[in-house]
Amino acid sequence: MKRLIRFTMIAAGLVAATVNGYSWGQKGHDITCSIAEQHLTKKAKKQISEIFDGKSIVYWSSWMDNASHTPQYKHTSTWHYKNIDADETYETAQLNPDGDVVRAIEAQIEALKSGKLSKDESAVALRFLVHLVGDLHCPMHMGHKSDRGGNKWQVQFFGRGSNLHKIWDSEVIESARKWTYSEWTEQIDRCSKEQVSKIMEGDPNTWGKQTYQLSTKLYESTPQGAKLSYDYVNEWSEMLEQQLLNGGIRLAAVLNDIFR
Ligand SMILES: [Zn+2]
Repeated sequence: MKRLIRFTMIAAGLVAATVNGYSWGQKGHDITCSIAEQHLTKKAKKQISEIFDGKSIVYWSSWMDNASHTPQYKHTSTWHYKNIDADETYETAQLNPDGDVVRAIEAQIEALKSGKLSKDESAVALRFLVHLVGDLHCPMHMGHKSDRGGNKWQVQFFGRGSNLHKIWDSEVIESARKWTYSEWTEQIDRCSKEQVSKIMEGDPNTWGKQTYQLSTKLYESTPQGAKLSYDYVNEWSEMLEQQLLNGGIRLAAVLNDIFR
């Protein structure tokens, strides 16, 4: 029995580690890609549809989270985030030799623009890209190295043990609204042309820096052991919506620029 309990605990730990690590939950990625779809040019839509054999970018939004756990794409497991310690700055942080989210996005853009990829290679680079621009806007994907992007920063969320990374990947979104990804899109993607142009300004590096500044605020306002519930969700809802919106609109900007 003891053995069984121990095995169960190890198995549960593995599941937790898998769920914790990599990104916005599926909802966040679906919302990001669904918003992006609303802002694609006709040319971009057509070329993406050809590369994906008619499938949408929403269809592939979370593919990379599973792919990074396979031997073929194991080398992409550090691409989902860029962690920066409290005593570093965004500019001076020691870069991970295995890659990070900002450089992975830049590399996919360059590869897709090069015209040197086969259709299959383009499809893989595009699946990476539509996922990673989402992760770039997920606040705790720019967390501290020392606590693995908030994975070791324990908090209570509605009375249950969780951590800062996990609540920002999925629990805050799921608590904020019971909407489907398309309802989220319909409700939050209501920007004027001017607002859209403003959000599209910048590049993956400056967008990453904005996310890093948000995560710094989250660390300050979410002490370890904090008991979080309704008021926390209420306090941060607007920021959450803005990050999802920024991710979606900027993903469209990136894709429209590649597929001109
Ligand atoms: Zn991810």
